[in-house]
Amino acid sequence: MEDCIFCKIINNEIPSYKIYEDDDVLAFLDISQVTKGHTLVIPKKHAKNLYEIASEDLIKVHQVVQELTCELTEKFNAQGVNIINNNHEAAGQTVFHYHVHIIPRYDENDQLTLKFGSDSKIDPQLVFNEFNK
Ligand code: 5GP
Ligand code: ZN
Repeated sequence: MEDCIFCKIINNEIPSYKIYEDDDVLAFLDISQVTKGHTLVIPKKHAKNLYEIASEDLIKVHQVVQELTCELTEKFNAQGVNIINNNHEAAGQTVFHYHVHIIPRYDENDQLTLKFGSDSKIDPQLVFNEFNK
């Protein structure tokens, strides 16, 4: 896609630190390293997000996510990893080409904060009922 930054990275129109590439998938270091080894894994075929990506591309991307997670963890001696994928602006997506963040974790003082709050006003029984309506 013409105006897509990640398509430009695929086509080498924008430089990047590529750490994995095959016919269908590319992985490169995020320009803004939340933690050491923060990597983005993308399909070469442009798709905006999880809602639009073809399932065969999704599978290939996530196979690479697993392989690179193991490799990054071992090479950088990470203690864990977060896999994050944002879809649509409401979820924090800023680049509209499907991508998965691999964020190796080291200790509680690294630069990623994830907090799962709990909304006491939401009753899971009612959510379940609505889902099954
Ligand atoms: P999102 O917020 O859409 O899930 O994440 C987009 C990510 O792309 C951000 O973490 C941002 O740092 C990264 N990013 C944006 N532009 C570039 C770029 O030109 N090169 C690289 N390597 N990463 C980028
Ligand atoms: Zn693109």
